[in-house]
Amino acid sequence: MHTDGSDEGLQFIAGKRRSGTSGERYEVTAPATGEVLAAGALAGSDDVDEAVAAARAAFDEWSHTTPAERSEALLRWADRLQLRDEEFAEVESRNAGKPIRLTRGFDVPGTIDNVRFFAGAARNLEGRASAEYSAEHTSAIRREPIGVVGSIAPWNYPLQMAAWKVLPAVAAGNTVVLKPSELTPLTSVLFAEAAQEAGIPDGVINIVTGTGGVAGQALVTHPDVAMVSFTGSTAVGRQVAAQAAGSVKRVHLELGGKAPFVVFDDADLEAAARGAVAGSLINAGQDCTAATRAYVQRPLYEAFVERVAALMDDVRLGPVDDPDTDMGSLISLRQRDRVAAMVEAARGAGATIVRGGRVPDGPLGRHAYYEPTLVTGAAQDSAVVQQEIFGPVLVCLPFDTDDEAVRLANDTPYGLAASAWTSNVFRAGRASREIRAGCVWINDHIPIISEMPHGGYKASGFGKDMSAYSFDEYTNVKHVMSENTGERHKSWHDVVFTTR
Ligand code: NAD
Repeated sequence: MHTDGSDEGLQFIAGKRRSGTSGERYEVTAPATGEVLAAGALAGSDDVDEAVAAARAAFDEWSHTTPAERSEALLRWADRLQLRDEEFAEVESRNAGKPIRLTRGFDVPGTIDNVRFFAGAARNLEGRASAEYSAEHTSAIRREPIGVVGSIAPWNYPLQMAAWKVLPAVAAGNTVVLKPSELTPLTSVLFAEAAQEAGIPDGVINIVTGTGGVAGQALVTHPDVAMVSFTGSTAVGRQVAAQAAGSVKRVHLELGGKAPFVVFDDADLEAAARGAVAGSLINAGQDCTAATRAYVQRPLYEAFVERVAALMDDVRLGPVDDPDTDMGSLISLRQRDRVAAMVEAARGAGATIVRGGRVPDGPLGRHAYYEPTLVTGAAQDSAVVQQEIFGPVLVCLPFDTDDEAVRLANDTPYGLAASAWTSNVFRAGRASREIRAGCVWINDHIPIISEMPHGGYKASGFGKDMSAYSFDEYTNVKHVMSENTGERHKSWHDVVFTTR
């Protein structure tokens, strides 16, 4: 793909790259520099109709491929991605404002590993063993693909989110129409093109690039879409669930987060401080599992704040193509201003901004950059502690007792991820049992792995991405019950009539 602002089309429908039919020219920009990377008209509802029709037409053949055939196709796809890994890393870095070190080391290899994982998982898709649960019948479970899956993804990890949405769906025999965020469609289109190069039939994976209000809504309400898989904010997730209810679609929601980071007084302070900086600043904090609320037991509190502040001072903001850059820009000036407004509100409410809380000086300040920010002294019920900020902002608060730590960790509407830092196995065990979140790390924060599920509790949504658990979202479970006696009058008929 060129990233020179040329109009190659932002849609990939029935195996063809083209412009949308909404009639409005749209420019995809690089948030770290402001340059235009690509252009084309966004998708209107006609494009969504066409993409859904293509996915529907492809479903019959694709859903009848054997697991081995789908697995082979995914392995070829992973090989295609591997051959172009540097191109993917560069495009993702520029389009999302991510440091090239992050896309080379995390986004792209993580995605390729996901494709390889689902190539294997496709061959292990099984129901429970069949058996004679009634003396006269054999029961069997069939796991069947659902049909056309409408997927909607956010802008924070565009390639990985596309992969998480598309892979379990197609590995299980579904076909997909994916709507990436209009801010970051470039690697989603490349990802679908690579699938085509790998021999995955046209129509199995379609990309419609458009706004949520137009293309997103058309997809969610489309009568031929059997399921909606949504990753994004809790506010939009609520709307999506409500709209999908009209046509009784299955819904999978991966929503916002506000991960607690609990440091007990027996923790390794240096490990915890490094973990907090990496866990809160990865992807400029635009990560649904990012460490956002550090609760530190009183004896370690001051030393922890001091060390985190010192480590934040060493974080290098810079151009995203510089391999020495640690933190890139936020996704847009709008997002930067949103983050800045939340930090200002905290300051206004009496919190202390220990580090950052400002746009950097110099040329970076003209674009969507924001400094690593450490906040203390905020009230537990204030917005900066309760609401998702989605920026490089860590709030740090002290606690006294273990009971208090668990209570504070659970005290937001969200429940996506959390971590506990301790050298005591009983404290670690209690935190992992009692913190209500889809993932609890012990002495680490952020790592994910293809084999393990990712998904939320509470307002962070329901359903799982990655891992074999994701097949529960993308398959229907069918019970097949076969009568084994061949008798015309079955024994159970006696409860209705006795004539033999
Ligand atoms: P968003 O909710 O604004 O948008 C997400 C997607 O929904 C976009 O593609 C958008 O165009 C679309 N959309 C918006 N309105 C719509 C509507 N009415 N109907 C259908 N689609 C609509 O989120 P965002 O700002 O793109 O991403 C950030 C959010 O995503 C954060 O809240 C973050 O926590 C969340 N997120 C969650 C996970 C997870 O796994 N739980 C992962 C990544 C991001």
